[in-house]
Amino acid sequence: MSNRLQTEQIQQLDSQHHLHPFTTHQTLRAASGPRVIVKGEGAYVFDSEGNRILDGMAGLWTTNIGYGSKELAQAAYDQILELPFYNTFFKTTHPPVVALARKLAELAPANLNQVFFGSSGSESNDTAIRLIRHYWVLKGEPKRRIIISRKNAYHGSTIAAGSMGGMSHVHQHSYPVYEGFRHVMDPYWYGESFDGETPEAFGLRAARAIEDEILRCGPENVAAFAGEPVQGAGGVKIAPDTYWPEVQRIVDKYGILLLADEVITGFGRLGTWFASEYYGIRPDLITFAKAATSGYVPLSGVLVGDNIADALMAENDDFNHGYTFSGHPVACAVALKNLEIMERDRLVPRVKETTGPALARMLARFKDHPLVGEVRSVGMMGAIELVADKKTRRRFSDLGRVGLICRDHFFRDGFIMRAVFDTMVCAPPLIWADTQFEEASAVIERALDQTLQDVK
Ligand code: PLP
Repeated sequence: MSNRLQTEQIQQLDSQHHLHPFTTHQTLRAASGPRVIVKGEGAYVFDSEGNRILDGMAGLWTTNIGYGSKELAQAAYDQILELPFYNTFFKTTHPPVVALARKLAELAPANLNQVFFGSSGSESNDTAIRLIRHYWVLKGEPKRRIIISRKNAYHGSTIAAGSMGGMSHVHQHSYPVYEGFRHVMDPYWYGESFDGETPEAFGLRAARAIEDEILRCGPENVAAFAGEPVQGAGGVKIAPDTYWPEVQRIVDKYGILLLADEVITGFGRLGTWFASEYYGIRPDLITFAKAATSGYVPLSGVLVGDNIADALMAENDDFNHGYTFSGHPVACAVALKNLEIMERDRLVPRVKETTGPALARMLARFKDHPLVGEVRSVGMMGAIELVADKKTRRRFSDLGRVGLICRDHFFRDGFIMRAVFDTMVCAPPLIWADTQFEEASAVIERALDQTLQDVK
């Protein structure tokens, strides 16, 4: 069968039987159908037509070591033969889960020494929400239930994690949004600052929105503040330098817990194992997923602070929460091997030394392009904002249309960047070398020019 016929057959079956995440199915089916990805190798994926595509999104902020690692395949194979599954519920454990928990405690900030495992970022945030509320019950302050988060935050798609997130289109699907979550402004200087407001002043104002909300709710009712160190799915929104120190001051002042959602930023994306270290914050909980296994198999978890763990241990009480696949042995074995490879190949320090600066240089090339309002990056995540008017930062009226046009040009030219409305975002695997930056740069240049022609 020809490649084309095979592709059409897969697309047809897909449209008959497969519902996709975050997708307008009518549009997907009206178009030719989804692109069929069949293979991955290093920094590239391949589609069913044989096209090689440079993956600027690391799958979905995930494949930090790149595709096709035989070492990870071997780790999974060996563990499947040894012990493919056993639960960790009923006073049982197994070597891979213990080894991984220990390794994570070593890599995490010093006060985080316990891990509760799951299989997705959403699950890890649900676990964190339950731990936070349970903690305050154990501490004799059960009224502390409110968790403050931010508009446009993405914490996952389960109803609790979706409610903690601040995306209105996610909330629409889960009426009513769970009680006990409040959303304040996000630290998005390019989009939200007043005319002439410096990033520093804006960063302080955005952080103080959290304090205002604490006071509105009554500090005695507030349990925690939750935030992604860099808002990823919201459009790679990088807070000004003044923001996180001020957030830490505020959570300390009111004695509330700090949850850092590091589902994207965990495992080296900013050049430190966790972004909490990069920003100098001291979270009480860190949620992680995605790159823990470089996405080869699902695994997530919550790194839990000693204060919370001590409170749990002080009671002879059940924490009634857990997943069948909490600490899945195969996922743990793959994660351990993934972390070993990242350490051996120095992928995390390389973000600081070479890959992060290379990404910043690549994006900076486009800052004067007529379509580009702002380029920004931190470590190995970055964004290009497309605007109708560079001077006034005016957006296109049909928000998202131009982003999709640009994304399609990238794709046709063999490169993946994601469109968050009209913001083009990238988070390449940490293994990129000069060749990949040069290749991406050439595609971006062509795609921006073509997009400009299309929207003129
Ligand atoms: N938290 C953040 C910051 C995310 O970016 C995501 C997913 O992209 C999630 C949580 C949810 O993770 P999952 O899709 O694995 O449930």
